[in-house]
Amino acid sequence: MAGAMQQSPEDHVATQRNEAAMTKYQVEEIKGDTVVSSGIVVENDSMKAAEATAGQSVSPRALQDHWFGVVDEEQAAVYQYSLAGPDERPDPAEWKELSDLGPRNLGMLHGGEPVNDGVDHFYTCAVCGQRVDMRDLRQVMWHEVPDHEPLKPEAVKEP
Ligand SMILES: [Zn+2]
Repeated sequence: MAGAMQQSPEDHVATQRNEAAMTKYQVEEIKGDTVVSSGIVVENDSMKAAEATAGQSVSPRALQDHWFGVVDEEQAAVYQYSLAGPDERPDPAEWKELSDLGPRNLGMLHGGEPVNDGVDHFYTCAVCGQRVDMRDLRQVMWHEVPDHEPLKPEAVKEP
């Protein structure tokens, strides 16, 4: 007899996870080749776990020297994320194009058409004097860095 009624430990873990709908991730913050912090984060998905550690939005893939490795030990999967906005940029001189900051992020927009809605969504940056579109989180985060240069527009140049 081969004890068919016994539950394996794996079954037990899977049941718990479904009930909680949360996963435990090991999140490591990495700068260059150095792990600067490491901890356990319980979240719905690996990207949220990385964001919880970063304290800001992240993008899939490790595009910078500063990135986050998220390990799902149950699934034996490793995910990599980098910051969606500027933070510890390794070389700002090579990273001035708006498109370098990833896809347009309209996180502050709650539906609707962003253009021509009669509201001035721009402010002038006190550091570099550039007009900043408040609806584009990439621009806002870029201009929050104390020492930065104006971003180059993606396509249409402003006068
Ligand atoms: Zn600025």
